[in-house]
Amino acid sequence: MANRWETVIGLETHVQLRTVSKMFCGCSAAFGAPPNTNVCPVCLGLPGALPVPNELALKLAVRAALGLGCTVHPRSLFARKNYFYPDLPKGYQISQFEQPLATAGSLSYLSPDQGIATATIVRLHVEEDAGKSLHDRFPKQTAIDLNRCGVPLIEIVTGPDFRSPHEARAYLLTLKQVLEYAAISECDMEKGSLRVDANVSVRRAGETALGTKTEVKNINSFAFVEKALTVERDRQIAVLEAGGTVAQQTMLYDSKTNSVRPQRSKEESHDYRYFPDPDLPPLMLSEEFVAEQQTQLPELPAKKRERFVEKYGLSVTDAAVLTAERAVADYYETVVHAGSGADAKLAANWVMTEVLADAKDHGERLRVQPGALAGLISLVRGGTLSHQAAKRVFSEMAEHGGEPRNVAEALGLTQVADTGVVAGWVSEVLGAHPTEVERYRKGETKLLQFFVGQVMKVSRGKADPKLAQRVLEERARSLGDLK
Ligand SMILES: [Zn+2]
Repeated sequence: MANRWETVIGLETHVQLRTVSKMFCGCSAAFGAPPNTNVCPVCLGLPGALPVPNELALKLAVRAALGLGCTVHPRSLFARKNYFYPDLPKGYQISQFEQPLATAGSLSYLSPDQGIATATIVRLHVEEDAGKSLHDRFPKQTAIDLNRCGVPLIEIVTGPDFRSPHEARAYLLTLKQVLEYAAISECDMEKGSLRVDANVSVRRAGETALGTKTEVKNINSFAFVEKALTVERDRQIAVLEAGGTVAQQTMLYDSKTNSVRPQRSKEESHDYRYFPDPDLPPLMLSEEFVAEQQTQLPELPAKKRERFVEKYGLSVTDAAVLTAERAVADYYETVVHAGSGADAKLAANWVMTEVLADAKDHGERLRVQPGALAGLISLVRGGTLSHQAAKRVFSEMAEHGGEPRNVAEALGLTQVADTGVVAGWVSEVLGAHPTEVERYRKGETKLLQFFVGQVMKVSRGKADPKLAQRVLEERARSLGDLK
């Protein structure tokens, strides 16, 4: 049923900027303070109080815009978005409407459906947050916390570019990476520092006109993005298949029941009566200011991914895993460049498996020093340690630190690559297994692996298995049998 329909999704993402103070006053923007303690006449909207824009917020907003390839406009306007709600004491929110800070950007991301895809960023503007209505504090009553009033936000609006819920999620994760790399926001959906609203519509496959869209709100965790959009898409398809029409309305997602319900009409505002805020002059940004923000941007994930593919010969998928977080990408490169340099592909495998697994179990900490990992990798390459033994050394270093060679020796894991010693073990094994030697001599050559296994056993895992095999092969060749 679903494949006769095409899904069209656009996202509006609200991101709290990582500032110390609020957008237009000096109040703390910190999360989690006791209710209604971070407030002042400006963010409470008391008569006569005047807003002053936060310079750091503007810097972060411009960096976000540049990171997303937007055109930053030298002149933009703050406007009042008027609506009545208990958590909005001023009766309006300062936002940008007709002349936003930035427009016409793009973000390339790895789509699960079509590989590298590009989302268009229609606009990026600056605004202030509203307070919070708390419905679960007191029975049958709503409490208001105005601490969040005036916290700086940017809103990032895409075109109707996504064709499936999981594509929308992939974009969102990439957006989060960019904002985290550039230290623009904490992007924590659970704390509300990243919030997403989605415009969803469906149309019959092959149609070019867009269907009627609904707006899905209240998606408050990454885990729910795909679920909420899938539920709404399926609801619309069911309505249309039954011969009905989709009403243009706002739908609220309920994660407990995994369902959507229309927002009550009295919660909706149809006309915001936008007009330029008379208390704030047009926002004028000099070329120097914008250029300065460009220099503050680090290498962003997409660039880094491309460079990893080119420079280290990694696959796009591996490079994407390694560049998902800046700390991991930096760690990987330090391993590659440490000491005499680790093999780039081997290092990538180690980071993607042992290192990330260990980090996952230990609060995302990268516990083994990059230099120690580089040393460990070269011990494996040089034949001193088997891969299995190296994994044990890695765990030991993660728990207690230490240098790889010392740790391996302390654990008795160093491989013996001395031909004389290995030859001694080979003789011991052959002497102990006369029946197998006889069968080998009669042509059962696959028994060679059995002998290698026995050498490993006799040496308690210390023999270099490749060397053991070579010694056994030589012994068979020179004698015509294994005596
Ligand atoms: Zn304030």
